[in-house]
Amino acid sequence: MFIYPQAEQNAAGQGAGGAQVRQHNAGMLLRMLWDDPSGVSRADLARLSGLSRSTVSAIVADLVDCGLVLESHIERHRSGRPPMVLQFNHKRQLIAGVEIGCSHVSTVLMDLRGCVLGTRRSDEAVQVDPESTMARVIQDVRSLCGAADVPVDSLLGVGVGVPCPLDQNQPGRLSERILPAWSQVDIGRELHAQLNVPLLIDNDANLGALAEAWWGAGKDQESLVFVKIATGVGAGIVVDGEIFGGSSGMAGEIGHTTVDPNGRLCRCGMLGCLEAEVGSQSIVDRVRHALATGQTSCLSPVANPTLADVVAAARQHDPVALAVIDEVGRYLGIAIANLLNLLNPSRVILGGRVTEAGEPLVAAVRAAASSRALSSSIEHAEIVLSLLDNEPFARGAATLVLKHALDTPTLFTESDPKLAAFVAVAK
Ligand SMILES: [Zn+2]
Repeated sequence: MFIYPQAEQNAAGQGAGGAQVRQHNAGMLLRMLWDDPSGVSRADLARLSGLSRSTVSAIVADLVDCGLVLESHIERHRSGRPPMVLQFNHKRQLIAGVEIGCSHVSTVLMDLRGCVLGTRRSDEAVQVDPESTMARVIQDVRSLCGAADVPVDSLLGVGVGVPCPLDQNQPGRLSERILPAWSQVDIGRELHAQLNVPLLIDNDANLGALAEAWWGAGKDQESLVFVKIATGVGAGIVVDGEIFGGSSGMAGEIGHTTVDPNGRLCRCGMLGCLEAEVGSQSIVDRVRHALATGQTSCLSPVANPTLADVVAAARQHDPVALAVIDEVGRYLGIAIANLLNLLNPSRVILGGRVTEAGEPLVAAVRAAASSRALSSSIEHAEIVLSLLDNEPFARGAATLVLKHALDTPTLFTESDPKLAAFVAVAK
Protein backbone atom coordinates (compact mmCIF):
# COMPACT_ATOMS: atom_id res chain seq x y z
CA MET A 1 0.00 0.00 0.00
CA PHE A 2 1.27 3.45 -0.89
CA ILE A 3 -0.09 6.79 0.17
CA TYR A 4 -0.07 10.22 -1.47
CA PRO A 5 1.02 12.84 -0.60
CA GLN A 6 4.13 10.99 0.56
CA ALA A 7 5.92 13.95 2.12
CA GLU A 8 3.10 14.70 4.55
CA GLN A 9 2.75 11.07 5.46
CA ASN A 10 6.46 10.78 6.24
CA ALA A 11 6.29 13.89 8.38
CA ALA A 12 3.32 12.51 10.29
CA GLY A 13 5.22 9.32 10.99
CA GLN A 14 8.17 11.13 12.55
CA GLY A 15 8.52 12.83 15.86
CA ALA A 16 9.32 12.13 19.46
CA GLY A 17 8.44 8.87 21.13
CA GLY A 18 5.79 10.52 23.30
CA ALA A 19 3.93 11.80 20.26
CA GLN A 20 3.99 8.36 18.70
CA VAL A 21 2.63 6.85 21.90
CA ARG A 22 -0.21 9.41 21.91
CA GLN A 23 -1.01 8.60 18.28
CA HIS A 24 -0.95 4.88 19.05
CA ASN A 25 -3.30 5.38 22.01
CA ALA A 26 -5.67 7.54 19.98
CA GLY A 27 -5.73 4.90 17.25
CA MET A 28 -6.39 2.13 19.77
CA LEU A 29 -9.36 3.96 21.34
CA LEU A 30 -10.76 4.92 17.96
CA ARG A 31 -10.63 1.31 16.81
CA MET A 32 -12.40 0.15 20.00
CA LEU A 33 -15.15 2.66 19.33
CA TRP A 34 -15.41 1.59 15.69
CA ASP A 35 -15.52 -2.11 16.66
CA ASP A 36 -18.59 -1.66 18.90
CA PRO A 37 -21.39 0.19 17.05
CA SER A 38 -23.64 -0.04 20.12
CA GLY A 39 -21.31 2.32 21.98
CA VAL A 40 -18.68 2.30 24.73
CA SER A 41 -18.28 4.46 27.85
CA ARG A 42 -15.06 6.25 28.86
CA ALA A 43 -14.73 3.81 31.78
CA ASP A 44 -15.09 0.86 29.39
CA LEU A 45 -12.40 2.32 27.13
CA ALA A 46 -10.05 2.72 30.11
CA ARG A 47 -10.72 -0.84 31.23
CA LEU A 48 -10.35 -2.35 27.77
CA SER A 49 -7.25 -0.36 26.81
CA GLY A 50 -5.42 -0.35 30.12
CA LEU A 51 -4.94 3.42 29.79
CA SER A 52 -5.62 5.77 32.69
CA ARG A 53 -9.01 7.46 32.85
CA SER A 54 -7.38 10.87 32.48
CA THR A 55 -5.56 9.78 29.29
CA VAL A 56 -8.77 8.32 27.89
CA SER A 57 -10.73 11.46 28.77
CA ALA A 58 -8.17 13.74 27.08
CA ILE A 59 -8.14 11.72 23.86
CA VAL A 60 -11.92 11.32 23.82
CA ALA A 61 -12.38 15.07 24.33
CA ASP A 62 -10.44 15.74 21.13
CA LEU A 63 -12.22 12.97 19.24
CA VAL A 64 -15.58 14.46 20.27
CA ASP A 65 -14.40 18.00 19.41
CA CYS A 66 -13.48 16.98 15.88
CA GLY A 67 -16.71 15.05 15.36
CA LEU A 68 -15.19 11.60 15.02
CA VAL A 69 -16.96 10.43 18.18
CA LEU A 70 -20.47 11.31 19.35
CA GLU A 71 -21.77 11.41 22.89
CA SER A 72 -24.81 9.28 22.14
CA HIS A 73 -26.87 8.84 25.29
CA ILE A 74 -26.61 8.23 29.03
CA GLU A 75 -26.75 4.58 30.05
CA ARG A 76 -29.32 4.60 32.87
CA HIS A 77 -29.62 0.96 33.92
CA ARG A 78 -26.28 0.83 35.68
CA SER A 79 -25.89 1.59 39.36
CA GLY A 80 -23.90 4.62 40.46
CA ARG A 81 -23.24 7.62 38.23
CA PRO A 82 -24.73 6.77 34.79
CA PRO A 83 -22.02 6.87 32.10
CA MET A 84 -22.20 8.64 28.75
CA VAL A 85 -22.19 6.19 25.85
CA LEU A 86 -19.75 7.13 23.10
CA GLN A 87 -20.21 6.08 19.48
CA PHE A 88 -17.99 6.29 16.43
CA ASN A 89 -19.50 8.79 13.99
CA HIS A 90 -19.59 6.78 10.79
CA LYS A 91 -21.34 9.60 8.93
CA ARG A 92 -18.60 12.13 9.59
CA GLN A 93 -16.85 11.63 6.26
CA LEU A 94 -17.14 9.54 3.13
CA ILE A 95 -14.50 7.54 1.26
CA ALA A 96 -14.20 6.82 -2.45
CA GLY A 97 -12.84 3.49 -3.62
CA VAL A 98 -11.74 2.86 -7.20
CA GLU A 99 -11.00 -0.38 -8.99
CA ILE A 100 -8.98 0.01 -12.16
CA GLY A 101 -9.41 -3.38 -13.81
CA CYS A 102 -7.83 -4.59 -17.04
CA SER A 103 -10.83 -3.41 -19.05
CA HIS A 104 -13.08 -1.40 -16.73
CA VAL A 105 -13.20 1.20 -13.98
CA SER A 106 -15.48 0.82 -10.94
CA THR A 107 -15.95 3.41 -8.25
CA VAL A 108 -17.87 3.34 -4.98
CA LEU A 109 -18.70 5.92 -2.36
CA MET A 110 -18.67 4.41 1.14
CA ASP A 111 -19.35 5.68 4.64
CA LEU A 112 -17.08 4.94 7.60
CA ARG A 113 -19.13 1.86 8.52
CA GLY A 114 -18.60 0.27 5.10
CA CYS A 115 -22.04 1.06 3.70
CA VAL A 116 -21.89 1.65 -0.07
CA LEU A 117 -23.84 4.80 -0.95
CA GLY A 118 -23.31 4.83 -4.69
CA THR A 119 -21.43 3.07 -7.49
CA ARG A 120 -20.21 3.80 -11.01
CA ARG A 121 -18.89 1.25 -13.48
CA SER A 122 -17.85 1.56 -17.09
CA ASP A 123 -15.78 -0.30 -19.67
CA GLU A 124 -12.45 1.37 -20.38
CA ALA A 125 -9.47 0.49 -22.55
CA VAL A 126 -7.29 0.54 -19.42
CA GLN A 127 -4.42 -1.45 -20.86
CA VAL A 128 -3.79 0.97 -23.76
CA ASP A 129 -5.26 4.30 -22.68
CA PRO A 130 -4.04 5.72 -19.35
CA GLU A 131 -5.35 9.24 -20.03
CA SER A 132 -8.98 8.31 -20.57
CA THR A 133 -8.78 5.81 -17.69
CA MET A 134 -7.63 8.47 -15.24
CA ALA A 135 -10.16 10.94 -16.62
CA ARG A 136 -12.86 8.35 -15.94
CA VAL A 137 -11.66 7.84 -12.37
CA ILE A 138 -11.72 11.58 -11.68
CA GLN A 139 -15.11 12.02 -13.35
CA ASP A 140 -16.69 9.14 -11.43
CA VAL A 141 -15.34 10.29 -8.04
CA ARG A 142 -16.69 13.79 -8.72
CA SER A 143 -20.00 12.42 -9.98
CA LEU A 144 -20.53 10.23 -6.91
CA CYS A 145 -19.65 13.11 -4.59
CA GLY A 146 -22.05 15.35 -6.51
CA ALA A 147 -24.86 12.80 -6.18
CA ALA A 148 -24.21 12.57 -2.42
CA ASP A 149 -24.01 16.38 -2.19
CA VAL A 150 -20.52 16.40 -0.64
CA PRO A 151 -17.45 18.21 -1.99
CA VAL A 152 -14.61 15.98 -3.24
CA ASP A 153 -12.15 17.69 -0.89
CA SER A 154 -14.26 16.60 2.11
CA LEU A 155 -13.50 12.92 1.43
CA LEU A 156 -11.41 11.10 4.00
CA GLY A 157 -9.43 9.76 1.07
CA VAL A 158 -9.55 7.86 -2.18
CA GLY A 159 -8.37 4.27 -2.39
CA VAL A 160 -7.25 2.96 -5.77
CA GLY A 161 -6.77 -0.65 -6.82
CA VAL A 162 -4.63 -1.40 -9.87
CA PRO A 163 -4.41 -4.63 -11.92
CA CYS A 164 -0.72 -5.34 -11.41
CA PRO A 165 1.84 -5.52 -8.62
CA LEU A 166 3.36 -2.30 -7.30
CA ASP A 167 7.08 -1.93 -6.86
CA GLN A 168 7.99 -0.21 -3.60
CA ASN A 169 10.83 1.62 -5.34
CA GLN A 170 8.41 3.16 -7.87
CA PRO A 171 5.01 3.00 -6.16
CA GLY A 172 3.17 5.20 -8.64
CA ARG A 173 4.42 3.32 -11.67
CA LEU A 174 2.45 0.31 -12.87
CA SER A 175 4.33 -2.76 -14.06
CA GLU A 176 5.91 -1.90 -17.41
CA ARG A 177 5.97 -5.58 -18.32
CA ILE A 178 2.24 -6.05 -17.76
CA LEU A 179 0.95 -2.57 -18.66
CA PRO A 180 3.54 -1.03 -21.02
CA ALA A 181 1.24 1.86 -22.01
CA TRP A 182 1.46 3.15 -18.41
CA SER A 183 5.28 3.24 -18.30
CA GLN A 184 5.49 7.05 -18.31
CA VAL A 185 2.55 7.60 -15.92
CA ASP A 186 2.83 8.16 -12.17
CA ILE A 187 -0.76 7.23 -11.41
CA GLY A 188 -0.61 8.04 -7.69
CA ARG A 189 0.90 11.49 -8.17
CA GLU A 190 -1.39 12.43 -11.07
CA LEU A 191 -4.65 11.31 -9.45
CA HIS A 192 -3.69 12.97 -6.18
CA ALA A 193 -2.94 16.22 -8.01
CA GLN A 194 -6.43 16.17 -9.54
CA LEU A 195 -8.45 15.04 -6.51
CA ASN A 196 -6.42 16.80 -3.80
CA VAL A 197 -7.27 14.37 -0.98
CA PRO A 198 -5.14 11.60 0.53
CA LEU A 199 -4.82 8.83 -2.01
CA LEU A 200 -3.91 5.25 -1.16
CA ILE A 201 -3.01 2.75 -3.84
CA ASP A 202 -2.55 -1.01 -3.84
CA ASN A 203 -2.83 -4.09 -5.99
CA ASP A 204 -6.43 -5.19 -6.71
CA ALA A 205 -6.05 -8.72 -5.31
CA ASN A 206 -4.76 -7.28 -2.02
CA LEU A 207 -7.84 -5.08 -1.88
CA GLY A 208 -10.12 -8.02 -2.64
CA ALA A 209 -8.53 -9.83 0.30
CA LEU A 210 -9.04 -6.79 2.52
CA ALA A 211 -12.71 -6.51 1.50
CA GLU A 212 -13.26 -10.17 2.30
CA ALA A 213 -11.50 -9.83 5.66
CA TRP A 214 -13.65 -6.83 6.68
CA TRP A 215 -17.00 -7.48 5.06
CA GLY A 216 -17.09 -10.88 3.38
CA ALA A 217 -16.21 -14.57 3.62
CA GLY A 218 -13.09 -13.88 5.69
CA LYS A 219 -14.68 -11.84 8.50
CA ASP A 220 -14.09 -14.55 11.11
CA GLN A 221 -10.63 -15.56 9.85
CA GLU A 222 -7.24 -14.52 11.18
CA SER A 223 -5.48 -15.62 8.01
CA LEU A 224 -6.87 -15.93 4.53
CA VAL A 225 -5.85 -15.88 0.92
CA PHE A 226 -8.09 -14.30 -1.68
CA VAL A 227 -7.54 -15.32 -5.30
CA LYS A 228 -8.89 -13.06 -8.03
CA ILE A 229 -9.60 -14.82 -11.29
CA ALA A 230 -10.62 -12.46 -14.08
CA THR A 231 -8.66 -11.11 -17.07
CA GLY A 232 -5.72 -11.12 -14.68
CA VAL A 233 -5.09 -13.54 -11.84
CA GLY A 234 -3.57 -12.58 -8.50
CA ALA A 235 -3.79 -13.33 -4.80
CA GLY A 236 -4.03 -11.18 -1.70
CA ILE A 237 -2.76 -12.57 1.59
CA VAL A 238 -4.09 -11.36 4.94
CA VAL A 239 -2.28 -12.42 8.12
CA ASP A 240 -3.59 -11.28 11.51
CA GLY A 241 -5.68 -8.61 9.79
CA GLU A 242 -2.79 -7.14 7.81
CA ILE A 243 -2.08 -7.44 4.09
CA PHE A 244 1.15 -9.37 3.61
CA GLY A 245 3.12 -7.64 0.87
CA GLY A 246 6.45 -9.43 1.13
CA SER A 247 9.82 -7.65 1.06
CA SER A 248 8.90 -5.36 -1.84
CA GLY A 249 5.12 -5.54 -2.11
CA MET A 250 5.12 -8.31 -4.69
CA ALA A 251 3.70 -11.15 -2.57
CA GLY A 252 0.66 -12.93 -3.95
CA GLU A 253 1.58 -12.93 -7.65
CA ILE A 254 0.12 -16.40 -8.03
CA GLY A 255 -1.02 -15.53 -11.56
CA HIS A 256 2.56 -15.68 -12.77
CA THR A 257 3.53 -18.94 -11.12
CA THR A 258 3.98 -21.82 -13.55
CA VAL A 259 1.32 -24.55 -13.68
CA ASP A 260 2.39 -26.00 -17.07
CA PRO A 261 5.98 -25.52 -18.30
CA ASN A 262 4.81 -26.14 -21.86
CA GLY A 263 1.59 -24.16 -21.53
CA ARG A 264 0.15 -21.03 -23.07
CA LEU A 265 2.14 -17.83 -23.58
CA CYS A 266 1.42 -15.35 -20.80
CA ARG A 267 1.35 -11.57 -21.23
CA CYS A 268 4.37 -11.46 -18.89
CA GLY A 269 6.37 -13.32 -21.55
CA MET A 270 6.61 -16.69 -19.81
CA LEU A 271 4.93 -19.98 -20.68
CA GLY A 272 2.23 -21.75 -18.67
CA CYS A 273 1.58 -19.11 -16.02
CA LEU A 274 -1.61 -19.70 -14.02
CA GLU A 275 -3.09 -16.52 -15.52
CA ALA A 276 -2.43 -17.76 -19.06
CA GLU A 277 -4.22 -21.02 -18.25
CA VAL A 278 -7.24 -19.81 -16.24
CA GLY A 279 -7.73 -16.10 -17.03
CA SER A 280 -10.84 -15.05 -18.93
CA GLN A 281 -9.03 -14.93 -22.30
CA SER A 282 -7.88 -18.52 -21.86
CA ILE A 283 -11.44 -19.62 -21.08
CA VAL A 284 -12.81 -17.94 -24.18
CA ASP A 285 -9.97 -19.39 -26.32
CA ARG A 286 -10.58 -22.91 -24.97
CA VAL A 287 -14.31 -22.69 -25.78
CA ARG A 288 -13.65 -21.35 -29.27
CA HIS A 289 -11.19 -24.18 -29.90
CA ALA A 290 -13.74 -26.77 -28.74
CA LEU A 291 -16.42 -25.27 -30.97
CA ALA A 292 -14.00 -25.23 -33.92
CA THR A 293 -13.53 -28.99 -33.51
CA GLY A 294 -17.28 -29.47 -33.89
CA GLN A 295 -18.29 -30.23 -30.30
CA THR A 296 -21.99 -29.72 -29.63
CA SER A 297 -22.83 -26.72 -27.47
CA CYS A 298 -25.48 -24.06 -26.98
CA LEU A 299 -22.63 -21.67 -27.79
CA SER A 300 -22.22 -23.08 -31.32
CA PRO A 301 -24.40 -20.36 -32.92
CA VAL A 302 -22.55 -17.57 -31.08
CA ALA A 303 -19.99 -15.93 -33.37
CA ASN A 304 -17.54 -14.78 -30.70
CA PRO A 305 -18.53 -16.10 -27.27
CA THR A 306 -17.45 -13.96 -24.33
CA LEU A 307 -16.67 -14.98 -20.75
CA ALA A 308 -20.23 -13.98 -19.80
CA ASP A 309 -21.57 -16.31 -22.52
CA VAL A 310 -19.43 -19.19 -21.23
CA VAL A 311 -20.46 -18.61 -17.62
CA ALA A 312 -24.14 -18.50 -18.62
CA ALA A 313 -23.74 -21.69 -20.65
CA ALA A 314 -22.03 -23.47 -17.74
CA ARG A 315 -24.92 -22.52 -15.49
CA GLN A 316 -27.24 -24.20 -18.06
CA HIS A 317 -25.08 -27.37 -17.87
CA ASP A 318 -23.68 -26.93 -21.38
CA PRO A 319 -21.11 -29.76 -21.84
CA VAL A 320 -18.46 -27.66 -23.62
CA ALA A 321 -18.66 -24.81 -21.11
CA LEU A 322 -18.59 -27.24 -18.17
CA ALA A 323 -15.60 -29.13 -19.59
CA VAL A 324 -13.66 -25.87 -19.95
CA ILE A 325 -14.59 -24.74 -16.45
CA ASP A 326 -13.50 -28.13 -15.10
CA GLU A 327 -10.16 -27.92 -16.95
CA VAL A 328 -9.55 -24.40 -15.68
CA GLY A 329 -10.56 -25.45 -12.16
CA ARG A 330 -7.95 -28.20 -12.20
CA TYR A 331 -5.16 -25.76 -13.10
CA LEU A 332 -6.39 -23.44 -10.39
CA GLY A 333 -6.43 -26.35 -7.93
CA ILE A 334 -2.76 -27.09 -8.68
CA ALA A 335 -1.80 -23.50 -7.87
CA ILE A 336 -3.95 -23.47 -4.72
CA ALA A 337 -2.44 -26.77 -3.52
CA ASN A 338 0.99 -25.10 -3.73
CA LEU A 339 -0.39 -22.09 -1.92
CA LEU A 340 -1.85 -24.26 0.86
CA ASN A 341 1.47 -26.06 1.32
CA LEU A 342 3.37 -22.77 1.44
CA LEU A 343 1.12 -20.60 3.58
CA ASN A 344 -1.29 -22.92 5.43
CA PRO A 345 -4.21 -20.44 5.44
CA SER A 346 -7.49 -21.42 7.10
CA ARG A 347 -9.57 -20.11 4.20
CA VAL A 348 -9.01 -19.57 0.50
CA ILE A 349 -11.62 -17.28 -1.06
CA LEU A 350 -12.16 -17.24 -4.80
CA GLY A 351 -13.44 -14.07 -6.48
CA GLY A 352 -13.40 -12.25 -9.80
CA ARG A 353 -15.61 -12.62 -12.86
CA VAL A 354 -14.50 -16.17 -13.71
CA THR A 355 -15.89 -17.41 -10.39
CA GLU A 356 -19.39 -16.47 -11.56
CA ALA A 357 -19.27 -20.00 -13.01
CA GLY A 358 -20.02 -21.02 -9.41
CA GLU A 359 -19.99 -24.47 -7.85
CA PRO A 360 -18.67 -26.49 -10.86
CA LEU A 361 -15.50 -24.38 -10.77
CA VAL A 362 -15.10 -24.64 -7.00
CA ALA A 363 -15.67 -28.42 -7.09
CA ALA A 364 -12.90 -28.85 -9.68
CA VAL A 365 -10.58 -26.61 -7.64
CA ARG A 366 -11.25 -28.55 -4.44
CA ALA A 367 -10.73 -31.92 -6.14
CA ALA A 368 -7.40 -30.89 -7.70
CA ALA A 369 -6.17 -29.16 -4.55
CA SER A 370 -7.12 -32.17 -2.39
CA SER A 371 -5.18 -34.56 -4.57
CA ARG A 372 -2.02 -32.43 -4.54
CA ALA A 373 -1.77 -30.58 -1.23
CA LEU A 374 -0.41 -32.26 1.86
CA SER A 375 -3.31 -33.62 3.87
CA SER A 376 -2.24 -31.58 6.89
CA SER A 377 -2.48 -28.41 4.76
CA ILE A 378 -5.85 -29.08 3.16
CA GLU A 379 -7.59 -30.64 6.17
CA HIS A 380 -8.08 -27.36 7.98
CA ALA A 381 -8.51 -25.17 4.90
CA GLU A 382 -11.79 -24.20 3.33
CA ILE A 383 -11.99 -23.19 -0.32
CA VAL A 384 -15.03 -20.97 -0.79
CA LEU A 385 -16.51 -18.40 -3.14
CA SER A 386 -16.55 -14.68 -2.35
CA LEU A 387 -19.69 -13.44 -0.62
CA LEU A 388 -19.30 -9.89 -1.94
CA ASP A 389 -21.21 -8.97 -5.06
CA ASN A 390 -21.24 -5.17 -5.06
CA GLU A 391 -17.96 -3.95 -6.55
CA PRO A 392 -15.78 -5.81 -4.01
CA PHE A 393 -12.46 -4.47 -5.29
CA ALA A 394 -13.55 -0.84 -5.25
CA ARG A 395 -15.00 -1.49 -1.80
CA GLY A 396 -11.67 -2.98 -0.75
CA ALA A 397 -9.93 0.16 -2.02
CA ALA A 398 -12.20 2.33 0.14
CA THR A 399 -11.59 -0.08 3.05
CA LEU A 400 -7.84 0.49 2.64
CA VAL A 401 -8.43 4.17 3.44
CA LEU A 402 -10.70 3.34 6.39
CA LYS A 403 -8.22 0.84 7.83
CA HIS A 404 -5.33 3.25 7.46
CA ALA A 405 -7.29 6.05 9.12
CA LEU A 406 -8.28 3.86 12.07
CA ASP A 407 -4.65 2.72 12.42
CA THR A 408 -3.31 6.25 11.91
CA PRO A 409 -5.93 8.79 12.98
CA THR A 410 -3.95 11.71 11.56
CA LEU A 411 -5.44 10.78 8.19
CA PHE A 412 -8.76 12.06 9.54
CA THR A 413 -7.12 15.44 9.98
CA GLU A 414 -5.18 15.74 6.73
CA SER A 415 -8.23 16.49 4.62
CA ASP A 416 -9.84 18.75 7.20
CA PRO A 417 -7.86 21.75 8.49
CA LYS A 418 -10.52 22.45 11.13
CA LEU A 419 -9.25 19.52 13.19
CA ALA A 420 -6.30 21.29 14.77
CA ALA A 421 -7.30 20.11 18.24
CA PHE A 422 -7.11 16.47 17.27
CA VAL A 423 -3.85 16.98 15.39
CA ALA A 424 -2.39 18.25 18.66
CA VAL A 425 -3.22 14.95 20.32
CA ALA A 426 -2.37 12.68 17.45
CA LYS A 427 1.01 14.10 16.45
ZN1 LIG B 1 2.76 -14.66 -16.53
